[in-house]
Amino acid sequence: MEQYFAVFTVIEYNTSRYEFNFFELSTPNGGLFMKITTVGCGNAFSKRNFNQCYMLDEGGRRLFVDFGSKIPDAMNHLGIDFKTIDDVYISHQHADHIGGLEELAFMRYDWVKRPQHYKEGKYAPRLIVNEVLMNDLWNKSLKGGLASMEGFDAVLETFFEPVPVRANEKFEWQGWTVALVQQIHAMTGSIIWPSFGLIFEKQGHPTVYFTTDSQHCSPRQIEVFYKKADIIFQDCELTGVNMKDRSMVFKSGVHASYAELAGFPSANAAVLSPEIKGKMWLSHYQDFYNEKKDFFGNPVDWDHEAATDGFKGFVQVGQEFEI
Ligand SMILES: [Zn+2]
Repeated sequence: MEQYFAVFTVIEYNTSRYEFNFFELSTPNGGLFMKITTVGCGNAFSKRNFNQCYMLDEGGRRLFVDFGSKIPDAMNHLGIDFKTIDDVYISHQHADHIGGLEELAFMRYDWVKRPQHYKEGKYAPRLIVNEVLMNDLWNKSLKGGLASMEGFDAVLETFFEPVPVRANEKFEWQGWTVALVQQIHAMTGSIIWPSFGLIFEKQGHPTVYFTTDSQHCSPRQIEVFYKKADIIFQDCELTGVNMKDRSMVFKSGVHASYAELAGFPSANAAVLSPEIKGKMWLSHYQDFYNEKKDFFGNPVDWDHEAATDGFKGFVQVGQEFEI
């Protein structure tokens, strides 16, 4: 088996603050680690931190967790080549999670052979998606830009090898068992519009939980995953939070608010235990984090606040984790 050693490199971006998070474990498989690189950690409209996206490397294979509009630029910034992508997981259909897929498809397409099916061309990336979402991903989103190829109607399988994952089924990735955790991202009328988070488990390694996009309205339902995880990558919006008096004025309704996660009384939300908060890296945040302000313009040192409130901190573009 190919050995994979820890690499202690953090690429600085828009910040002088960076730190490592390294779990020192003697692993039964001879020191094989998964490296997680934060490709982006901004919200949908960020101009500084791209879109929330994590790149997982293990044993020579590479998986992206989401692939938003700004990810091609983030890859350019971090020096990541499209050719190195083996697998992409998509949590839901917002553009900040899928908007880079058209570019990925065209960048990886075999323009010499021009195949109608990926099997007739070069090696195509696998697209891992909840089976219900897979149809919508093509028919409601990707088809508009990818279907019209010169000479033929393209389909999803022209560009990707689809890997649909059924409800309550798991998939294996490089020895990790990966479960999809359905999150309430929005309530469209009386129907839940979900995002599917991921929890990675492997003997002898820390358990990692990516919430992707979630609200804080069901923390009791997802508490089992919060408790099971050793490290949590949590979406966290700063919009509508007044840090002068540490209150929640409003929330977007589609993400967990900092005020809810921190347990501000005005958020009127289920309060997380210090143990759970102590495992959380905050992600998917607005640019005024970098401007050291809150939504209302009050000066805030968000890193200091996050430390005070017991979080691991705000994850940074280029930040790496060895697990
Ligand atoms: Zn979303």
